Amino acid sequence: MRNEIISQKGYEKVVKVRDIASGLTAYIAIHSTVLGPALGGCRMWPYASHEEALRDVLRLAQGMTQKNALAGLDLGGGKAVIIGESKTDKSPELFKAFGRAVERLKGLYFTAEDVGVTAQDMGFIARETKYVAGLPETMGGSGNPSPITAYGVFLGLKAAARHRFGTDTLHGVKVIVAGLGHVGFELCRLLSDAGAVLIVADLDVDKVRNAQHLFGARESHPMEAFAKSADIFAPCALGGVLNEATIPMLQVGAIAGAANNQLMSPEQGDALHKRGILYAPDYVINAGGVISIAQEIEGAWTRQKALAQCGRITRTLEAIFDRSHVLDQATNRVADRLAADRLLHVPKPQDLAEGAA
Ligand code: NAD
Repeated sequence: MRNEIISQKGYEKVVKVRDIASGLTAYIAIHSTVLGPALGGCRMWPYASHEEALRDVLRLAQGMTQKNALAGLDLGGGKAVIIGESKTDKSPELFKAFGRAVERLKGLYFTAEDVGVTAQDMGFIARETKYVAGLPETMGGSGNPSPITAYGVFLGLKAAARHRFGTDTLHGVKVIVAGLGHVGFELCRLLSDAGAVLIVADLDVDKVRNAQHLFGARESHPMEAFAKSADIFAPCALGGVLNEATIPMLQVGAIAGAANNQLMSPEQGDALHKRGILYAPDYVINAGGVISIAQEIEGAWTRQKALAQCGRITRTLEAIFDRSHVLDQATNRVADRLAADRLLHVPKPQDLAEGAA
């Protein structure tokens, strides 16, 4: 068992981890610790090759640097991927071996949950390292971050509605929620309580039926959701959904949802801007989970405090929307610039928003 260092330009440290006894093969990428120790989840996925796993961990780690910077956290960006099928290849030994690899990085990287990995798995990792967060509440952790992510998205969606339509209430605002998983379903609950009119789509028919029953939502086929006429589209499933094929179909004024990597490329952000569709950059609006996990790392987590700190998402998005308007520049470009500025130790985004007020 060892951490093999891989040289990678633009990254502070990248390691490959192999533990034959447990069957663990993983990559850990630390993109930046300029703002503090790197924080980013551990994903378990049946990658077809090592190259694919490495590509994914590098892309995700860089994204975490931007996300944590604009969430106002004093944390850098990193990520880990374990190569394997989460339904069949998990074992306590595998996660304990991963925990030892994290421990050997001596606090440069904090791990947490991501796709294919649960709070229970974090419990095994925690037996070998203290550099882990997102533990179950029964172990003193912050538990499943999804409801807090959903709350942050809800606040961001309200900010988008205010900026785009000049409305302070979501009453009667028509929202398409595509993806009714841990975040999307909770978002529907918050939107429904706020009086929004919901159109929902998911590949899982049971989830759609549930949303119809609980929230009076109307159903859309997932492929048709992009073309529905509404006020706001909330992508809450996969990445890459805003692309050359879907953007011309959109009949909404704003996009505000939880999914990571919604834009197929930065140019798609320009295309949305040209069409006058306000885009809430994904890594800003979906930062509720990392805000919550950062509090756990500080040892100061309470649900109330985590929810209150999601107010930063509103302030940062308002600053981005205003700047995008003034500079006539796509919101994703403005967000990337702000994140890069923060790494150069210019003010935190909320200071910027307060300064502008
Ligand atoms: P999830 O796996 O619980 O839910 C995803 C849902 O999307 C599932 O119900 C699935 O059936 C549905 N889906 C898949 N393909 C679809 C399609 N083509 N059309 C419509 N629905 C489809 O995931 P989640 O935890 O709710 O996360 C949703 C998104 O938000 C992901 O992109 C995730 O990376 C991102 N995100 C989540 C968190 C979090 O705290 N969970 C934090 C930040 C970002």
